[in-house]
Amino acid sequence: AGDEVIVTAYSWSSSATCILHANAIPVFVDIDFATINMDVDKIEAAITARTKAIIVVHLHGLAVNMAKVMKIARRHGLKVIEDACQAHGAEFKGRKVGQYGDCATFSFNQNKCLCSGEGGMFVTDNEDILNKARMIWSFGETRTPTEKRDYHAYALGWMYRNNDLTAAFGRAQLTRLTEYLAIQRENAALLIQELKGVKGLILPVEPAGHRANHYNFTSRIDVNKLGWSGHPARLRDAMMKAMNAEGVPAGVWQHFILPVMTVFQAKNAFGKGSPWCLGKKVDYNPKRFPAAQKHTDSHFGMTTPLRAPNGPETVKAVAEGIRKVFEGIGELDVEKVLSAK
Ligand SMILES: *Cc1c(COP(=O)(O)O)cnc(C)c1O
Repeated sequence: AGDEVIVTAYSWSSSATCILHANAIPVFVDIDFATINMDVDKIEAAITARTKAIIVVHLHGLAVNMAKVMKIARRHGLKVIEDACQAHGAEFKGRKVGQYGDCATFSFNQNKCLCSGEGGMFVTDNEDILNKARMIWSFGETRTPTEKRDYHAYALGWMYRNNDLTAAFGRAQLTRLTEYLAIQRENAALLIQELKGVKGLILPVEPAGHRANHYNFTSRIDVNKLGWSGHPARLRDAMMKAMNAEGVPAGVWQHFILPVMTVFQAKNAFGKGSPWCLGKKVDYNPKRFPAAQKHTDSHFGMTTPLRAPNGPETVKAVAEGIRKVFEGIGELDVEKVLSAK
């Protein structure tokens, strides 16, 4: 209780609320705008005597630079937890994510690259962590699935059991995952090829040594290049509406960076100021995370058009819709579009 855990300022809320559930305190690090992942060069400045772990999120299916993260973690004696919920099959330096940290999690919810309806997977190669995870998973009990239960709570646990039907569905999906991901990568490559050079459009990057799964094809609008001097989110929202009207299923994934979310700003997750009252003061001033804010205000993304069995026909239709909106920007009346029902 009261320990600190480092995490990115931009992700799904549970990448950081999971820290609160362990009675620990999230310490946010700004993102690297180009990759949208936590800026690994800013991790060390966030480490204090109370830091125990780093949670890395391989966002949108692009791996964090794990060579740098593991080097920092070793130097400071920190555990590394990979949130690979969006990153099934994504690789860094030829190795799939989920194998770098002390443990990792994958989501199999309705949205993810491997879907079982609901559920997920926890992986570790550390026996102690495995045993603790087992206790948390099932009422604080310690028996493995092949042993007879003794119905004794040895520690604080929850009920995180999956059900057999969704697990069976997930295992069937697993046999197709390689094929699904190959199609998704081909679709993303085609979309990038179709959209390259569109003025004001910042396409997703895949730095050397990375192999993305393109879980969420996320682009940004360079509002300056389009001659817009108002709030970036207003132009983005209007362009997104125009893209939707062209049949492009673009959406904004996160409207807020994590530190501004009320659960963190209020600093009172469990009542009586807990867990923040158990540690040292941490600063959640949104001004400290300008890259995350810039991304939040200017991005739009897509998941379904790239998913199997969609192929070149869908991808080309999507590209055409996006191009039409960017190239016709001179005719876009932002205020009128935003005020329209
Ligand atoms: C989906 C997601 C989660 C949560 O997964 P669930 O299976 O819905 O609990 C956590 N982190 C990230 C980055 C996600 O995208």
